[in-house]
Amino acid sequence: MTPDLTVVVPMYNEEEVITLFVERLRPTLDGLEAAYEVLVVDDGSADQTPVLLQRFRRTWPELRVIRLRANSGHQAAISAGLANARGGWVATIDADLQDPPEVIAEMVRAGQDQDVDVVYGVRGDRSTDSAFKRTTARAFYRLMRLVGGDSIRMDAGDFRLMSRATVDAVNALPEQHRVLRLIIPTLGFPSTEVTYRRDARAAGSSKYPLSKMLRLSLDSLTGLSLAPLRLATWFGLGGFLLAAVLLAYAVIGKVLGNPISGWTSTVVIVAGFAAFQLLCLGILGEYVGRIYSTQQARPTYYVTYDSLMAQDRAAAGS
Ligand code: UDP
Ligand code: MG
Repeated sequence: MTPDLTVVVPMYNEEEVITLFVERLRPTLDGLEAAYEVLVVDDGSADQTPVLLQRFRRTWPELRVIRLRANSGHQAAISAGLANARGGWVATIDADLQDPPEVIAEMVRAGQDQDVDVVYGVRGDRSTDSAFKRTTARAFYRLMRLVGGDSIRMDAGDFRLMSRATVDAVNALPEQHRVLRLIIPTLGFPSTEVTYRRDARAAGSSKYPLSKMLRLSLDSLTGLSLAPLRLATWFGLGGFLLAAVLLAYAVIGKVLGNPISGWTSTVVIVAGFAAFQLLCLGILGEYVGRIYSTQQARPTYYVTYDSLMAQDRAAAGS
């Protein structure tokens, strides 16, 4: 049986919030009058998350669980979910109730009524996020639009609904370390958006430390555009012109008999350029690393052996 809708939920150490989440998600989906499945991707949780999931499975036949062998990150977890989703429509939602499950119903309606392939959840109000999160998020989306163009939506995260065609297109991408919210708009499927209020995390704490945020930003930037590489070229050109002007200035000074004194300017220029060259090497390294890992084609996640197959076999047998 193919469900009409799959809801993909990445979870990493969400024992505190999982019961609250299920209590709100299940009635919403039961009320849809559509065949659905919920596919939770347990991203290598080290707390009670897997135990609680197995407990919920006993009373909720529509729940399927994939467990990843190691913590592989939010984006990899969603990718694992998309690769195993069976629904004609696929929604992705965070487990912490920052994305209200009730909005999924609205998204399904919007997708069907407006005959589009993608429905983005757009955060109309994120006053419940910390000032730090809001500021960094705004800077992030500004930068992405600057390098990636206007198809990138401000404040559209990973709460969205996609048609089967869209999910198949995403699954077919060879790219490693994908940042889905930036890739999906570039696929060119007709889309619409649903605005929602981003609530505070219902329980537990954020699983996105600064290190993961930085990793996501770097992946986004290098995955989106070659602009940073070009930036290096333009700066190189600018530096060359500046050097030419300085050289002319020094030579003229020498000819006119008053050579420029002082080494401070020299030191500043040399140090500045050395730092800048290192930065350019770093940028190059990011892209070379990306080429390398794509070439290795090593999966960004490993599903714990047969966890999903065993469930599906049991479900088919019962
Ligand atoms: N998550 C995950 N793997 C990770 C980090 C987070 O699957 O390595 C999940 C997490 O359980 C949640 C979603 O991704 O369902 C978003 O994480 P979180 O709410 O902690 O991020 P924030 O809202 O603070 O950016
Ligand atoms: Mg959250």
